[in-house]
Amino acid sequence: MTGEGRPPVLLWFRQDLRLSGNPALAAALDRGSPVIPVFVWAPGEEGAWPPGAASRWWLAQSLASLDADLRKRGSRLIVARGPSAETLMGLAAESGATAVFWNRRYEPAAVERDKKVKAALRGQGLEAESFNASLLFEPRTVRNRSGEPFRVFTPFWRTCLVSPIPPPWKDAPPRLPPACDWPSSLNIADLQLEPSIDWAAGFREVWQPGEAGARQELDRFLAEALAGYPANRDRPDIAGTSRLSPHLHFGEIGPAEVWRAIQGAARGHAAAAEAYLRQLGWREFAYHLLYHFPETAQAPLRPEFARFPWKRNPELFKAWTRGRTGYPLVDAGMRQLWRTGWMHNRVRMVAASFLVKHLLISWREGAAWFWDTLVDADQANNTLGWQWVAGCGADAAPYFRIFNPATQAAKFDPQGVYVHRWVREAAPPIVDHDEARHRALAALATIAKS
Ligand code: FAD
Repeated sequence: MTGEGRPPVLLWFRQDLRLSGNPALAAALDRGSPVIPVFVWAPGEEGAWPPGAASRWWLAQSLASLDADLRKRGSRLIVARGPSAETLMGLAAESGATAVFWNRRYEPAAVERDKKVKAALRGQGLEAESFNASLLFEPRTVRNRSGEPFRVFTPFWRTCLVSPIPPPWKDAPPRLPPACDWPSSLNIADLQLEPSIDWAAGFREVWQPGEAGARQELDRFLAEALAGYPANRDRPDIAGTSRLSPHLHFGEIGPAEVWRAIQGAARGHAAAAEAYLRQLGWREFAYHLLYHFPETAQAPLRPEFARFPWKRNPELFKAWTRGRTGYPLVDAGMRQLWRTGWMHNRVRMVAASFLVKHLLISWREGAAWFWDTLVDADQANNTLGWQWVAGCGADAAPYFRIFNPATQAAKFDPQGVYVHRWVREAAPPIVDHDEARHRALAALATIAKS
């Protein structure tokens, strides 16, 4: 189908930067109209969480990859900057498009913005439709028996597992019907997403942003790591996890596709597949919580933690961010994060716990640092992770359970291979573990009493 003569559809890309298994794209193609793929850079519409530096680096690469994939199919990515509603309306006017399709986002600021965009477009007589590309189970559809959102993971996941998952994905189309006249576009470089000082060399060594990179990472995981996942997923010294988190965040691969690939590989590895899908379940749970409790990106879900006596200590905070706490596992994690934009989940737990318990610095400061430095920075997962560690979120680790970084290292990095990769020097600890532990428990007691 060429789409000639029909008015085009604008396909608004956001965190769904892929051509396969993309429901908004599939719906646009079904109309047989020309499709105009669009990306609008509007960081001011992300509320308190505009993309951080590492995310912007990833986004620049991912947009370039998407544009290249589109060009192979006779199409291209139109890049714009400005308020989303006005920009989309301007592009529609310029191209004669009569419809705008996109895949949904679930972060509070994005939900509010999208509602306004939809109303504005419809108010102009344009068709505006949204689809689900990024979750297995949409947050508003999963409820407990009383019709309330879940706050505990296990019953949430049990309910999900008996619910239908999105239909099989469609392969990337061989061609996209092009517009007769392309609207004007910026270059990706005009968005100035990348740092002016090139600190991203370490990122380039370990990541390939884009749909092909996501597929490659999934294939590697299925071939080399899925079988050992239950035993190895907590081992930062082993490449035992999928490293799909940034690809999932930017929608370069969808969870439904990962789900089916894991199910397909599950024969003989049923327990491993189940363990892996459960982690995807935690991602779903994180989105469920953020959607139903939108204030939790800023405030603890458990209200008594609003009274917790967090300390402000820029010097200790800086030591933590630089990987200079004198606790080798914490320092290795923080240096891995700085150099590669990613940290192993077990080490994230230990490093985050160290900040909120050993240093008594608020989880919100830690969450903001991770937000700026992680390539997989994700408002739902980051909020869940930090509130879980700080003991103030849904189904969280109790605050009084305080990780000992040395014991954690002995258990999960037994030969010290991971630590040795990032930390070579021996440095005195900036706080004593036992003293810090007592101080943390005393701080907890103040909110229990009041
Ligand atoms: P795998 O073990 O291969 O898991 C597969 C996928 O499941 C992941 O890609 C991820 O999408 C999901 N997943 C796995 N573990 C979790 C989890 N605990 N919570 C939610 N989803 C999970 N993850 C992010 O994607 N973005 C963040 O900003 C983020 N911040 C975190 C902050 C803290 C303090 C903590 C403790 C965890 C955070 N996580 C975050 C969760 C987790 O650490 C990463 O998702 C995981 O390390 C990614 O590596 P992987 O893809 O190899 O995981």
